[in-house]
Amino acid sequence: MQCRSCGIEIADKAIVCYRCGAATTDPVRQPAALKRRRSPLAAFVAVAVLLLLALYMGMAARTASDPEPLQTVAGVLAGAAVMLLILRVVRRG
Ligand SMILES: [Zn+2]
Repeated sequence: MQCRSCGIEIADKAIVCYRCGAATTDPVRQPAALKRRRSPLAAFVAVAVLLLLALYMGMAARTASDPEPLQTVAGVLAGAAVMLLILRVVRRG
């Protein structure tokens, strides 16, 4: 067959022209990926927000009007729990 782009004779089974690289058939549409890929940036932002939230919660507990060690621990634990939860959600995708 002939290349549709440059007209040179190429093999019938050729997918692209060896001379100019033009495709011999119409580009087949790739089926949409079933899995939506989450962008690494989104995951990174989620983790960053989570870390900040954990830090904030820990600091909030620490600077509470009636600071107690238990409150600080509770704040840190709560932040860690939220962080783990978000991490699971992010990884599930
Ligand atoms: Zn060609």
